[in-house]
Amino acid sequence: MLICNIDGTIADNGHRRRERADGTFDWDYFLRPDLISQDRSFPYCREVLNRLGARHPLILLSGREERFRSITRSWLAEQGLPAPSKLYLRADGDRRSSTEFKSDILSRIVEHAHEAVSFVDDNEEMEDVCSRFGVRLLRAPAVWEDLFRYIHLL
Ligand SMILES: [Mg+2]
Repeated sequence: MLICNIDGTIADNGHRRRERADGTFDWDYFLRPDLISQDRSFPYCREVLNRLGARHPLILLSGREERFRSITRSWLAEQGLPAPSKLYLRADGDRRSSTEFKSDILSRIVEHAHEAVSFVDDNEEMEDVCSRFGVRLLRAPAVWEDLFRYIHLL
C-alpha cells in the first residue's frame, strides 16, 4: 500500500515559502488558495502515480486543513494526477503539528492494513514515526525519479 504526502512531496510549493519582516514563516502567504493553485507537481511524480494508480488505490495524507479539500482535489485533476481513493486532511482548527497528525493517521492505517505500507514524504521528522510503525519511508521528491526508472525497467 502506498500513501503519499502532498506539500513538498507531490506539490512543489517553494514559491509560497517566504518569511515575514520579523523573520517568522509567513503562513498566510503559504496558505493563499490562489498560490496553492499555482504549485507545480514535481518531475516524474505524475507518471509514477498514474502508473501505480492504475493498479493500486492512491491514498493521500496531508497536514493541509479540511478547508483546502476542494482546492486540493481540483489541483490534482489540473495536474493530471489520479484522483485519490482517500484524502486524509487535518480537521480545521486542529492545532497538532502535521507530524503528529500524520503519525495518528498512519498508526490507524497500519493497524488495519493487510499488506506492507510505504509512505512517500518530504519530512525527515517522519523517519522515527515510520520506523516505529513498520512503515517504509520513501523520501520525496528524490524518490520519484528512482520510482520512474524502476517502473520503466519492468
Ligand atoms: Mg510535506
